[in-house]
Amino acid sequence: MRSHQIGEARITRVEEVLERGFKPSFLFPDLDRDALFERHPQLAQANFYDAEQDRLMSSIHSWLIRIGGKIVVVDTCSGNGKTRALPLFARFHMLDFPYLDNLAAAGVRPEEVDYVFCTHLHIDHVGWNTRRDGEAWVPTFPNARYLFGRTEYDHWVGGSGPAIFPENVAVVEDSVLPVVAAGLVKLVDDGDEILPGLTVHRAPGHTEGHMALRYTSPEGSFIVTGDCMHQPIQIYAPEINSCFCEKPEEARRTRRAILDWCAEEGALLMPIHFGWPHAGFVRRDGAGYRFEPLETAAG
Ligand SMILES: [Zn+2]
Repeated sequence: MRSHQIGEARITRVEEVLERGFKPSFLFPDLDRDALFERHPQLAQANFYDAEQDRLMSSIHSWLIRIGGKIVVVDTCSGNGKTRALPLFARFHMLDFPYLDNLAAAGVRPEEVDYVFCTHLHIDHVGWNTRRDGEAWVPTFPNARYLFGRTEYDHWVGGSGPAIFPENVAVVEDSVLPVVAAGLVKLVDDGDEILPGLTVHRAPGHTEGHMALRYTSPEGSFIVTGDCMHQPIQIYAPEINSCFCEKPEEARRTRRAILDWCAEEGALLMPIHFGWPHAGFVRRDGAGYRFEPLETAAG
């Protein structure tokens, strides 16, 4: 498993799964796929798209960030053994993936994790917050402080989230509320600093309170973007939202702001669902952008 050093931060991708995900016509209802693939054939390469099955390659992973001896896990995938709404969430239902083995291969035991940060509270970003213990769901990272955006938390607990997306209610119940009950949660707001140089920022649109995590230093910077974009397609066509984006106009504004920031800063873009190599740089290209994938060994 390859890691990258950026300033004082060491980053490692921890995979839950890399698989054929949704069909482009389902995930991106407004996408003119053929026209985009013709203009940018690199988007139709096998690491991003399975032409035979007409499915987008979808990774679900965490980003592990180590700074000054502290360990942060950003987004916790889908989790094992969880009952999910069918048929919509068949991809996430009763999984049995070796996520904790992959974390161990990155040199980390769950009890060593200091912070867990969830960009938002959707099914594939909170799952490993908890694991099954008999009949109960208990915190997977018992010594961590779990950081959730305050607006996002309020959106799902007492807000409009459950009405907008009822299939996600069970997710909040088994993967969010148990860590709240365990007293491990701290709600965070725009601009809060987790560790030196590592700050959370409002990135609304995909969900009401979606947040991104930025690291800046004189030696380099990066941003974990959660679901502000799902596929490299959206770097070339930033107006394209996923079918799961709650607020279309805000999602577009946020996406463009992130792309601008990455291009200006030379920051590494670290999404949660891009196919190999899973991260890269954003360059300006005329009035738009292009993607420069981070070339790494697999993993
Ligand atoms: Zn997601």
